[in-house]
Amino acid sequence: MNSTEERLADLRGPVPPLPHNARTIAALTTNPGCARRAIMDAAGVDKRAVASRVGFAPPYGQSPFAITRTRSFVAQVKANGCAELLRLLREVLKLDIKEVAYQDLEDAGGNQSQEVRHRLARQVLGTAAAQVDDAGTLFDHPLLKLPVGGRHVFLEPDLIAFQYQGVFHIIEIKSFAVIDDQADGGKVAAAAVQSAVYVVALRRLLEELGHDPNTVSDRVVLVCPKDFSNRAVATRLDVRRQLTVLNRQLKNMERIDQRLSHVDEGVTFDLQPDRDGRPTRAVGELCVAIEHIPARYSPECLSTCEMSYFCRNEARRSTHALGKSVSEELGSVDTIDTALALAAGDLEPSPEQAEAAAVLRAALRLREECLA
Ligand code: SF4
Repeated sequence: MNSTEERLADLRGPVPPLPHNARTIAALTTNPGCARRAIMDAAGVDKRAVASRVGFAPPYGQSPFAITRTRSFVAQVKANGCAELLRLLREVLKLDIKEVAYQDLEDAGGNQSQEVRHRLARQVLGTAAAQVDDAGTLFDHPLLKLPVGGRHVFLEPDLIAFQYQGVFHIIEIKSFAVIDDQADGGKVAAAAVQSAVYVVALRRLLEELGHDPNTVSDRVVLVCPKDFSNRAVATRLDVRRQLTVLNRQLKNMERIDQRLSHVDEGVTFDLQPDRDGRPTRAVGELCVAIEHIPARYSPECLSTCEMSYFCRNEARRSTHALGKSVSEELGSVDTIDTALALAAGDLEPSPEQAEAAAVLRAALRLREECLA
């Protein structure tokens, strides 16, 4: 183990790391400036458990009912050698093939090691990329790898890659419904970003093997239940915009070892579980450890990060808590108290604050005129 891995293990405590997935990487790239999330995710810390221990249990999470529904819908779409999925692919990709081959890459000869499963995925997908033919093949559970903050993370996928005539298509199966040809915009947007993570990872894998990364289509296939039935429907999603943002954020993300160099020795998120797994760590001590690592809270965190209630409380007098556009507008005015004082003329602005102060004074004037 190198020192970065040892340090991350110390931060996590004596529990297995939580694996990254497309959702965590998508969330990380939504707020790339947040060192707290980057470090906790790199260490595989259970953020939900940490937030709950300090009294800020996360506001969301899939209910057991939703998880069961997702599993049964995925199983239905993949049943009988993916018969239903093939019907959908024929429609959405305008294919005339009668049948496709199916290969499940979850089983690497009984070996569950991520390295072994990833090697299998490399070998099988590399061979497929080298053999362009007219027969389609579905590759289920290919374990991919992606460099995030200077470290390679494995992506535990539940997706399918479909190769036909030399082009790979990412297929994402979700259990939210499409009603009257409309789906929840937020859920579709999240699915698009997560699919884009898989496109990036699969493109990197092919590139490493000397194949053209652009053989992975930038239009992914999204499969959802139709209306209130269990009948599946497929649509194609253009994820070019998400790919551009994702690639830029991954490239600009600070290396995790650099981030760790600002973290004091001895800081840990170890919950010190008792024999029954219940956390015993002193709450005050854990809060100090969390606050030691700087965060960059914004309202978007509420839908993407388990630490959001804690961070929102911590940032409650900061202008960042008001959202990106407000904090950009206010520049170096960091706190709401400073903004109010500048607006009321009770505080002399520094040269960097002069522009924001003028805007704030005008806003206050306008508000008073409206109220009068
Ligand atoms: S909720 Fe907190 S830890 Fe999570 S991304 Fe936002 S600021 Fe960072």
